[in-house]
Amino acid sequence: MIDTLRLTAEEATGLLERREITAGELHAAYRAAIDERDPELHAYLRVVDECEGDGVPIALKDVISTRGIETTAGSRILSGYTPVFDATVAARCKAAGLPLLGKTNTDEFAMGSSTENSAYGPSRNPWDPSRVPGGSGGGTAAAVAGGLAPWGLGSDTGGSIKQPSALCGNVGLRPTYGTVSRYGIVAFASSLDQIGPVAKTVRDVALLTSIIAGRDPADSTTVEHPEPIRLPDREDLRGLRLGVPRELEALAAIEPGVRVAFERTVDLARELGAEVGECELPLSFEYGLPCYYLIAPAEASSNLARYDGVRFGPRSAGDGYREMVERTRDDGFGAEPKRRIMLGTYALSAGYYDAYYGQAQKVRTLLVREHRDALERFDAIVTPTSPTVAFPLGERAADPLAMYACDLLTIPSCLAGLPGLSVPCGLSDGLPVGLQLIGPQFGENTLFAIGHALERALGLDPVPERLR
Ligand code: GLN
Repeated sequence: MIDTLRLTAEEATGLLERREITAGELHAAYRAAIDERDPELHAYLRVVDECEGDGVPIALKDVISTRGIETTAGSRILSGYTPVFDATVAARCKAAGLPLLGKTNTDEFAMGSSTENSAYGPSRNPWDPSRVPGGSGGGTAAAVAGGLAPWGLGSDTGGSIKQPSALCGNVGLRPTYGTVSRYGIVAFASSLDQIGPVAKTVRDVALLTSIIAGRDPADSTTVEHPEPIRLPDREDLRGLRLGVPRELEALAAIEPGVRVAFERTVDLARELGAEVGECELPLSFEYGLPCYYLIAPAEASSNLARYDGVRFGPRSAGDGYREMVERTRDDGFGAEPKRRIMLGTYALSAGYYDAYYGQAQKVRTLLVREHRDALERFDAIVTPTSPTVAFPLGERAADPLAMYACDLLTIPSCLAGLPGLSVPCGLSDGLPVGLQLIGPQFGENTLFAIGHALERALGLDPVPERLR
């Protein structure tokens, strides 16, 4: 019997290599787990029955184009859209022999922090199905935590890999901007979007990173990672310097239970030999969110202009071209993409461009600089990943600003283009808390080393209590 709730991708690789199991049996075990638990969790929008590949199966967020398999980005406007090509990351997974398990749920166009904006209904948190799994990549996170996939890929624009990983007790990496190809990804905000892995252990995340990273001629923003990705094996933190932003203390948004788990883990890092000090990010937590909510919607309004009923998905009837496009977009987009299109178009309009979009770009440069300054003295910056644990479905759905605030701690480093790793660091009221490690550009190996040592020392059980 394969215990899909516990099996790591690394262990699964070992079973395959020693021929103790076949890839088909492994895939079938996850498919059976999906049949059993996905009716409750709704992590998947679509599942694949055939096992194509001889490796460890994988779940892909539904913003990743998959040849011959419907790809909707959680939106009605892309329902029925079946790509004729694979995104580069999907092709790399295929080339590595990873069979696809299915496409996972996401907030529409990856806009949201709970999956409640998905046009196909929300996913639920395996730790407590009355709560959200986070978002926008809540489907992948719920699948991994619920034993419905050993690992998966998400996309992170402002926190969509890190935040759901934290809320579901997984490890998730947002790689350095430009190290993983965006070719074939349903674009949200192109200067921020990055694809990255979610799994149960830091080593699994490192392994999957090594599979997907690398220069891609089809995405001119990509570069070869200057250091090959290594699987971490160190158990101490000697010689590593961790910076805790002094501004965290005054952030009322951070729940007390999250603070306790975070501070205990920082103490543990000290015991493991890390040198812990205070760093300063004076602008990040004050201006990060407003800056992001100008830049991301501005880019989204331009990226989403392509959905006009002509090339992708369903078309609504209308009298003439203009009316057809208007109706298609009105019927096809949900409330959140519409809100972002309006915000972004406004921020880019003549007369307001300098005051909003231009100003936000300047603030972004300042955020890049303050992270660079902090990371001159420290190997990584540490914060909680999310200010809160998983919240009940519906709690923030009616209040866009409350939803946007979920990403208070994840957004600034995304604007700075830096890698961020979320690792579980404890429980608060029985729900997972995540710790975020931010590194300099291309600092993935250091983040993996720190995350792995903490993971070992903490020894947390990744399986949700109610499923043990
Ligand atoms: N929650 C943020 C937003 O709604 C981030 C989403 C993401 O990273 N894709 O934009």
